[in-house]
Amino acid sequence: MIIDCHGHYTTAPAPHQNFREAQLAAFEGGLALPTPLTISDDQIRESVESNQLKLLRERGADMTIFSPRASAMAHHIGDEQVSKQWTRACNDLIRRVVELYPETFIGVCQLPQSPNVSISNSIEELERCVLELGFVGCNLNPDPSGGHWTSAPLTDKSWYPFYEKMVELNVPAMIHVSGSCNHNFHATGAHYLNADTTAFMQFLQGDLFSDFPDLRFIIPHGGGAVPYHWGRFRGLADMMQRPALSDHVMKNVFFDTCVYHQPGIDLLFDVIDIDNILFGSEMVGAVRGIDSTTGQYFDDTKRYIEALNLSKQDYYKVFEGNARRVYPRIDALLESRGL
Ligand SMILES: [Zn+2]
Repeated sequence: MIIDCHGHYTTAPAPHQNFREAQLAAFEGGLALPTPLTISDDQIRESVESNQLKLLRERGADMTIFSPRASAMAHHIGDEQVSKQWTRACNDLIRRVVELYPETFIGVCQLPQSPNVSISNSIEELERCVLELGFVGCNLNPDPSGGHWTSAPLTDKSWYPFYEKMVELNVPAMIHVSGSCNHNFHATGAHYLNADTTAFMQFLQGDLFSDFPDLRFIIPHGGGAVPYHWGRFRGLADMMQRPALSDHVMKNVFFDTCVYHQPGIDLLFDVIDIDNILFGSEMVGAVRGIDSTTGQYFDDTKRYIEALNLSKQDYYKVFEGNARRVYPRIDALLESRGL
């Protein structure tokens, strides 16, 4: 079985975005927030069957861990109430996709984060999504300010109540920022990759995993700049008298394969232990075009992994086994289906 750990509902039906626009207009105008617009099952079917589902089948994957569109989380827009309402609507829509295609999609939630609002206020939505909607993880934004980095580092104790709940529910988080309102940082070209790299360095500097040995994070986009600069991070850990990365951060941190060319994937697999790599494509997402040098979609990452000629056992780890280990709730679900 092939599990893609990184997919977003980037093609949600128009009423979803229309609701968002009405919601933000109401907030700006100081009016009562509107309720989400009706979306039919057929609209949902159409939105995924011609996109994610079609590509998934064409490319030969089986299941996608599916979450709301990351750039649209926009935690920096509106206020806590706006973020809460939008988040619920986004997560409810993911639940409906999963209900329509339970064999193919499994839910991961967005959180109702807001700048300068305690992460503890996101616990309720995490619990609702995991316990009521059957989700298996969450996307955690280390920078709800949208590019200004006003939050404490991820290793700060202010994040601990949320981590305690993650451990209790046995769910991992993908580190995932949203849109950038800082014009220095292009969202998907700079802000995302900066955040991936920044989160890794925070984990290296901190002692988070001594306090939470069972906490698990996925750092997407191939780990940002980390694998390419692996020697720098190992050297810094040594200089800072931190434990070796293999004994410290890499017991709890995993990278996906959203690297959109063969040399990048080659390097990722050269440098990072196979047990820490999860197949992901982020389709239909940040980079949607066709690579003129290969004639293939940039985000068809399965193709690059297949070109590596790994052993059968290693392919199992990357495509299925590691995901089942990092997301135990997927493992339990698949086992209940005899898979
Ligand atoms: Zn993403």
